[in-house]
Amino acid sequence: VHMLTTCDEQEDGSFLLNGQKIYQTNGPRADWCIVYAVSEKDKGNTMGQFLVDTSLDGWTAERINIPWTPRISLGKETMKNVRIPKECAIGAPGVGREYLFEGLNLERLGASGLYVAQAWGALAHATIYTNMRKQFNTEVIKYQGVGFPLTDLWAKTMNLTLSLLYINRLVDEKLRESKDGILPQGFNLSLGVYVSQLKYQCAMLTERVCYECANLMGGAGVCDNTLMQDLMGLSRIQEIGAGTRQIQQYIMSYGLRKIFK
Ligand SMILES: Cc1cc2nc3c(=O)[nH]c(=O)nc-3n(C[C@H](O)[C@H](O)[C@H](O)COP(=O)(O)OP(=O)(O)OC[C@H]3O[C@@H](n4cnc5c(N)ncnc54)[C@H](O)[C@@H]3O)c2cc1C
Repeated sequence: VHMLTTCDEQEDGSFLLNGQKIYQTNGPRADWCIVYAVSEKDKGNTMGQFLVDTSLDGWTAERINIPWTPRISLGKETMKNVRIPKECAIGAPGVGREYLFEGLNLERLGASGLYVAQAWGALAHATIYTNMRKQFNTEVIKYQGVGFPLTDLWAKTMNLTLSLLYINRLVDEKLRESKDGILPQGFNLSLGVYVSQLKYQCAMLTERVCYECANLMGGAGVCDNTLMQDLMGLSRIQEIGAGTRQIQQYIMSYGLRKIFK
């Protein structure tokens, strides 16, 4: 998605894509991509949606390394006169943004699920460790400095998980009722604020839970002999992808304005 990547329609109905976009999950590995490009730079209402075969001439992808998550393949893609056949222009300039927003809530809900799953992974590790590890012949979970903070992380993770499942169930019901597999526009629009609340809090929570659980595991929490280091690395970057903290806060504050009005 990029407001500076352009699409120019040709006489035969094909499009030429030009531009550069950084930070695409799995970009360097993808055989196919969905690209959103505008016919006028910085004008979102001219956005189109394109299905792109990454073996086409003019397409290059470099890998960007995030030290905390060495196994994630993040890409920087450059498009130089990539010719997209007519049939791969799945959203003409003008409707691309609408198509983008159609899927955004579901993407953020999926991401939130991933975040709480990481928190649960960390909780499971810390629970096993603190129930087995003994100091002064006593399991460390019985020391309140260990057991009580663990319950705090557990309670927060459980409550957010239940909220997330509740919203997901509403979405599932609406999708089941829908004939075309698309969420009704009004529902999707009002869903945005609640999805932002979840994305915002789940991303922050997982970072805290993974770090604190590792902390409760002492040396074992920071070594590479368990999944804790992966969980800590992943949870540190979750506030950025799928819309940063500030973007979620913007959406939420807009929601509060609407309620007030
Ligand atoms: C691991 C990872 C995976 C990603 N995967 C994808 C992907 O698959 N597809 C894709 O399209 N993108 C992807 N991204 C890109 C991601 O969506 C952007 O990095 C993110 O939206 C922030 O944009 P930026 O990096 O340009 O930061 P900037 O826009 O430079 O933001 C810098 C800071 O300013 C704040 N800020 C920016 N604009 C505003 C504003 N208007 N109001 C208030 N605060 C603002 C930001 O919140 C942030 O704190 C990914 C990024 C990461 C890190």
